[in-house]
Amino acid sequence: MFRLRQEIYLDNNATTKVSPSVSKKMERVLRFYYGNPSSLYQVARDSALVLEESRRQIAATIGAKPEEIIFNSCASEGNNNILKSLTELNYPKKTRIISSPTEHSSVMATLEYLKKQGVEIIYCPVDKYGKVVIEKLEELIDNKVFLVCCMLANNEIGTIQDIKTIAAITKRHNILLMADCVQALGKIPVDVKELGIDYATFSAHKIHGPKGAGIIYIKDGSPFVPLVHGGNQEFGLRAGTESLHNIAGFAEAARAIAVMTSKMSKLKHIKDYFIAELKKIKADIIVNSPAHNCLPNTISVIFPGINNSVLLGALDYQGIAVSAGSACNTQSDEPSHVLKAIGLSDSQARETIRFSLSDSTTLNDTNYVLKSLKTFLNNESKAVNMITPGQLNENILLDQNTFILDIRFWYDRKFLKSLSGSYEISFFSFKKYINKIPKNKNIYVICQGGFNSPVVAYYLVAKEYPRVSFLVGGYVAWKLANKELYEKYAGKDITKLD
Ligand code: PLP
Repeated sequence: MFRLRQEIYLDNNATTKVSPSVSKKMERVLRFYYGNPSSLYQVARDSALVLEESRRQIAATIGAKPEEIIFNSCASEGNNNILKSLTELNYPKKTRIISSPTEHSSVMATLEYLKKQGVEIIYCPVDKYGKVVIEKLEELIDNKVFLVCCMLANNEIGTIQDIKTIAAITKRHNILLMADCVQALGKIPVDVKELGIDYATFSAHKIHGPKGAGIIYIKDGSPFVPLVHGGNQEFGLRAGTESLHNIAGFAEAARAIAVMTSKMSKLKHIKDYFIAELKKIKADIIVNSPAHNCLPNTISVIFPGINNSVLLGALDYQGIAVSAGSACNTQSDEPSHVLKAIGLSDSQARETIRFSLSDSTTLNDTNYVLKSLKTFLNNESKAVNMITPGQLNENILLDQNTFILDIRFWYDRKFLKSLSGSYEISFFSFKKYINKIPKNKNIYVICQGGFNSPVVAYYLVAKEYPRVSFLVGGYVAWKLANKELYEKYAGKDITKLD
């Protein structure tokens, strides 16, 4: 969308680039294997063969038997399915699930949902790196617990849990164990048998496979009920015609897992170099990721005094993709629950950036990022102003020189009406209509959660707009702080620019 100096993608825990061999395989399956694997003629049997070959390939990658995995649409579905399935089978005879407070949102939100249904959710204490305190876990176990749910590796800070020890405990107490292994696969060796887990989830798009394909590992003989009812696909455990091209793409990505994992293990020197050089640029940075028992590609860093949305915008303008704890279009401005769980304050969480390298990240890539960070941190880049929700008051709103540029998505505008006098424009097509934005006004760029507006603000400043500010925390935070102004001014006198 915007001009990129160089493209450096360091958000590989969010998703990965599809590898060329994966897209080639998928295209072949889309073209030639169109039969429904459940039907009873040759083209269908050809598809069924692709399905079963893929199952065998993926199962072998994680040390499982082919009949122990079922395909689904993603790991979020998998996490939902396991938690809801085991609750259905155990509750109310047993009432408790023990989990960790640093799980992925697809686990956390499902646990909160189950809590409303009456299940007791107990979060085991974790240390400052998010590692489950094993002794505490053992203390929490009683005869009401039916499941322990703990991820193998954390997506935000990279912490690797001692799942083998946790599995030994759950086995001793005859309790089931599920582990979200999404972030671990391709970064560290994953063998479900060696780990001793009963259920696990995986996702293709984290290993250079396609989005929309996942698996659940269900240890031989473990109880399970479907989430999606209908046809008899996946041994009757997940209805719906299989997404064969996605599944074949997943299998092709899985074929490269050994190479990916080996390349990942060599990233350590890049990671150490990056952290050491960062400290030279800004001595007070704090690294949230542990030095040991951490994914080799994940570096979570606090930049004290710097709001992560500003840094994200500055790096984005340089073509660098990194991530913060939350996304711009969320309906809340809550800081990351993972960072809070490891003891960070709200402001530290809002000063945190995650760099997640890929197996092909080079020293040159990191040097480019370091150079861009240095330029930004030494105030050598052109200034973009931040305005807090408290500062964006009636005086500014009513000022003739104010130009509010609302770049929120249409669905966000359904939740919250734009401010009076706003100029609405789509974040995606904004560049096309830039000539409608006056250079002689004070521009205030507003997005929903505060992460997209710095990108646009940086762009405008680079285009010689002299007075550009963006709203920290976005419109959600502004409304929370200015309820009366919202009631008084929102929704009136709106102009569409695109
Ligand atoms: N679990 C973890 C640890 C993740 O990082 C993610 C994705 O970010 C998921 C689950 C959800 O995966 P999917 O995108 O396949 O639903």
